[in-house]
Amino acid sequence: MSTTAEAMRSAEAHSAHNYHPLPVVVASAEGAWMTDVEGRRYLDMLAGYSALNFGHGNRRLLDAAKAQLERVTLTSRAFHHDRFADFCTELAALCGKEMVLPMNTGAEAVETAVKTARKWGYEVKGVPDGQAKIVVASGNFHGRTTTIVSFSTDHEARDHYGPYTPGFEIVPYGDLTALAAAVTANTVAVLLEPIQGEAGVLVPPAGYLRGVREVTRERNVLFMADEIQSGLGRTGKTFACEHEEVVPDVYVLGKALGGGVVPVSAVVADRDVLGVFRPGEHGSTFGGNPLACAVALEVIAMLRTGEYQQRATELGDHLHRELNLLVGGGAVTAVRGRGLWAGVDIAPGHGTGREISERLMELGVLVKDTHGSTIRIAPPLVITKEDLDWGLDQLRSVLAAG
Ligand SMILES: *Cc1c(COP(=O)(O)O)cnc(C)c1O
Repeated sequence: MSTTAEAMRSAEAHSAHNYHPLPVVVASAEGAWMTDVEGRRYLDMLAGYSALNFGHGNRRLLDAAKAQLERVTLTSRAFHHDRFADFCTELAALCGKEMVLPMNTGAEAVETAVKTARKWGYEVKGVPDGQAKIVVASGNFHGRTTTIVSFSTDHEARDHYGPYTPGFEIVPYGDLTALAAAVTANTVAVLLEPIQGEAGVLVPPAGYLRGVREVTRERNVLFMADEIQSGLGRTGKTFACEHEEVVPDVYVLGKALGGGVVPVSAVVADRDVLGVFRPGEHGSTFGGNPLACAVALEVIAMLRTGEYQQRATELGDHLHRELNLLVGGGAVTAVRGRGLWAGVDIAPGHGTGREISERLMELGVLVKDTHGSTIRIAPPLVITKEDLDWGLDQLRSVLAAG
């Protein structure tokens, strides 16, 4: 046990400074609430960037994990285990697809999607070897590997990590004309977030995703939706693509799939796409392990009920109604988002996103800033309306004081 100051000092001394966390040291958590080492309570309005959609310490998920912990946790894919087939079958069914390729982190799933698209391009579409192109959007966030940062437009994420992986074409997010123009005979995929999270919860113009679907279908290009943050209930639907009744060729999933307990990610698609892999051509020691499958199976069962999507819709409507009342009041210039997910732009002179986040922390609310002047709000979907209203009260008082 150590105090906040001691814990922060040790972390500062012995961990790489690749993050700049808020000065709070969490010791325990339940539902939408976290408690720090000194007993102070905070409302979690970030939910681990949607990894905690079902809240902290969710009973169903903990029970599933505990039961599996006592049975078998890891086999590697050298052997079958008895949770694997169910996990793949259930996740494929949730997505309306035929096959699943499990990994662990989101970045690994995106890497897997990139490899899938290239292999599909060479072996199915007939693109000359080494010529495959993938179209991506500016402002994207797909993870942190060397290949993924190669097509990032964020200098902090990308600079000094070259040489970069070629084969990516960056077009402005939300611009269908530019996207269509970037597609050539060698384009194998379009990779997009249906709503850009890190960029500040950017919702593309209405009709954009449907347009991307039409262009990719006409040009024989895979539409790969990175639903790692937007998927699994956050926006009020199982997948954010559903808001435009769009079904991509490839779903890239992560974060909430592991229920906030273990990292679980996956690429989900039909056999004509994921069927390109043969033994030895791709893999992961931990991907699809028994513990991961057991937790994810419970996540899928919970999503099947539709209750979390409904909560996200109802509470999200309330959240956006309340946040929109702040726009034009001086401190807030814009609010974006869908479901229980919002990006709030703070007006110049009312504090940076970081300063607003720190003041909210002092009042017992945890959020995260992005791109200097935006704060992101994404509480666990299990948050009560009363707690959400309390969190909004704290936001209003911070903005009024600033
Ligand atoms: C978080 C995230 C990733 C990367 O996931 P990690 O588990 O952090 O590797 C990729 N894409 C999107 C849209 C994300 O939000």
